[in-house]
Amino acid sequence: MNVTGRIAEVRKLTDDARASGSRVGFVPTMGALHEGHRSLVRRARAETGFVVVSVFVNPAQFDQAADLDAYPRTIDDDLEVCAAEGADLVFHPDPEEIYPRPPLTQVRVSGLTDRMEGAFRPGHFDGVTLVVTKLFNIVGACAAYFGQKDAQQLRVVRRMAADLDMPVEVVACPTVRDADGLALSSRNARLDSADRERALALVRAFAELRRLFETGQRSGPALQRAGLAVLEDCGVDKVDYLEVVHPETLEPLPSIEDAALVCGAVHVGGVRLIDNTTIGSPEEE
Ligand code: AMP
Repeated sequence: MNVTGRIAEVRKLTDDARASGSRVGFVPTMGALHEGHRSLVRRARAETGFVVVSVFVNPAQFDQAADLDAYPRTIDDDLEVCAAEGADLVFHPDPEEIYPRPPLTQVRVSGLTDRMEGAFRPGHFDGVTLVVTKLFNIVGACAAYFGQKDAQQLRVVRRMAADLDMPVEVVACPTVRDADGLALSSRNARLDSADRERALALVRAFAELRRLFETGQRSGPALQRAGLAVLEDCGVDKVDYLEVVHPETLEPLPSIEDAALVCGAVHVGGVRLIDNTTIGSPEEE
C-alpha cells in the first residue's frame, strides 16, 4: 500500500492505474476509521481495481472550531485499517497541500443544502463540496463510495457530480450500526456510557415512526411530532431537527405516498449525532 501526502503522487498513481486498465475506486474520509468506513473500502475493493482512501480532516467543513479541534486523529490506526482492507493508496495530505492559499472559488449546490445539516451548520456543505471537488479532480475518473449515514451529503455530492459532469460515479453504501442500532460515527468515542444510552434516541424515534407508518399514518407532520416526542422522552440535550422528507428532493413531505427519508440531528453530552432512515421502502438505496 502506498501512502502519500502529495497531490502529484496521487495523480500519477491513479493515472497509471487507469492506463493499465483498472477502474479506480475512491473512499473519501476524515479518518478515525471504523467499521462503517471499512465497509466502504471493502465495497470499493470488491468493485474496482485500484482503491484510494483519503484521510483528511477538512477544516473548511467545520462550522465550530471546537468540533474541528476535538475531531479524533488516529492516522496510524487508519493506515492499518486501510492496509487490512486492501487499499492500494492512502492520501493523507496536510491542510497546506489542499489549501495552499485561501480559495476564492466556491462550489455551491443550492436547494438540497437549504435545510437540515445545511441550515444548522452554516457553510458546512460549501466546505464539503469544495473539498470533494478538489479530491475528485486529484483522483480523477473513479467510482466514489459514500455512506448513506450522511444522507444529505450523499445527495448533494451526487447532484454536484451530475451537474458539473464530473467523471465520477457516486456509489451509496448502507449505514453500518452497532448491535443496538446506533450508527457508527467517529464522534461516538466521545460518549460516556450514560450518554451512549441517550444516543439511541434517534434510533428509537425512527422505530416509532416506522411503527406508526405501518399502522397507516401517512402524515409527515404527524410522524415528525411523534418522533420529536420520542427524542424528548429519551432526554437528549438538544434537538436540531427531525424531518420527514422526500428521498430525492429532500423537501418536507406533507404526506407520504411511497417512501420518505427521515433525518435527525441531536446533541448528547456535548456530541452532535446525525442519523437517518427510510420508511415505506427497504432501507438504503
Ligand atoms: P467521515 O469520515 O465522517 O467524513 O465519513 C467518510 C465516509 O464514511 C462518508 O461517506 C460517510 O457517510 C461514511 N460513513 C460514516 N459513518 C458510516 C457508517 N456508520 N456506515 C456507513 N458509512 C459511514
